[in-house]
Amino acid sequence: MLVIFAMNVTHLFCSACDKKFEPNKLYNLCTDCGMPLMVEYDLEKVGESLTKESLQNAGSTLWRYAEVLPVENRQNCVSLGEGWTPLHHAKTLGEKYEIPNLFIKDEGMNPTQSFKARGMTMAVSMAKELGVEKVAVPSAGNAAGALSAYAALAGMEAHIFVPNDTPKACIIECKALGANVRLVDGLITDCGAIVAKRKEKEGWFDVSTLKEPYRIEGKKTMGYELAEQLDWELPDVIFYPTGGGTGLIGMWKAFDEMEKMGWIGSHRPRMISVQSSGCSPIVDAFHQDLTHGANIENPHTVASGLRVPKAIGDFIMLDILRKSNGTAVSVSDKRLVEDSEEIGANEGIFAAPEGGALLAALKKLLETGEVKRDEKIVLFNTGSGIKYLEAFED
Ligand SMILES: *Cc1c(COP(=O)(O)O)cnc(C)c1O
Ligand SMILES: [Zn+2]
Repeated sequence: MLVIFAMNVTHLFCSACDKKFEPNKLYNLCTDCGMPLMVEYDLEKVGESLTKESLQNAGSTLWRYAEVLPVENRQNCVSLGEGWTPLHHAKTLGEKYEIPNLFIKDEGMNPTQSFKARGMTMAVSMAKELGVEKVAVPSAGNAAGALSAYAALAGMEAHIFVPNDTPKACIIECKALGANVRLVDGLITDCGAIVAKRKEKEGWFDVSTLKEPYRIEGKKTMGYELAEQLDWELPDVIFYPTGGGTGLIGMWKAFDEMEKMGWIGSHRPRMISVQSSGCSPIVDAFHQDLTHGANIENPHTVASGLRVPKAIGDFIMLDILRKSNGTAVSVSDKRLVEDSEEIGANEGIFAAPEGGALLAALKKLLETGEVKRDEKIVLFNTGSGIKYLEAFED
């Protein structure tokens, strides 16, 4: 029997110029202005079948929100059980710093040990639905592993381009998952340029961050889960380790969708973007009141997910940080590694360095008074430390 998801996508639109696009097609960037596209749903129709009550019987993956996801036919879902990760109440750290409502959303529990699985399950499922046979991605590490896994499951060829100093585990993982891996003497932006140059001739579909509209739809489920796990009351503050920004942008989109469906009110968390001081274009632009980030010349950090010298969606992120009354903070590599070990020793979660950066940033903002000890605070530990063994060796 063919099980069809309710098809609720009305159209896609450009995040910069608002140009509209037909639903259920393959897209990269806006054909007019070259900026990222977003998916729009008929939320009234969604609300007829997806409700807070219907979710009580839904499965424990992000596909529980299928009605607000773009895949039309369930048979095209390429799933390894991603999403619905634990929201861990960090009581020991909370006691230590006198913040009783500290939570860690542990994205390291996803297939391939990072939240990149959320984006890639969606991009690959849509690619499958729309007839793609070969996919390619530039990656700083975790996106490569996630794409390799979902492409393998979907029976697609995966072409991965990573900087040659990417954490070794990520490279080994991609190869074990059957992907074609090329090491590039350069940065993720250089890897992206190679994909862009070769994709047409090779017949690759490019699933680069925000250069394809469906990864963000997968990432937005973090926003839905957070609301559901907190009994439909969003926290006061969200700390997010920021590279390309899909999670930040996706969660903000999810909050708007949930408000339109009447699931939550207009209250929004303050969104805090955290980066490494070795690569902090968003932090710099935020504090200099700029609408776009600069292109960082010589980015370096062991938190490879944060080593994005220039993000195509930087203007969207900066807008969200300001609208939410949030801020942006950078921390040193030394601190972010130490603080992932502090999370580990106190809470039993081997956090990625990107996750550790959030605890370091939280301490800074407690000190300046920008975050209050009685607030409800969520740290998004976006991945597992297990992929970054070099960073933890001394
Ligand atoms: C990719 C990545 C990030 C950055 O995520 P964006 O949504 O691109 O900003 C953060 N942490 C980890 C572990 C990552 O793999
Ligand atoms: Zn446009």
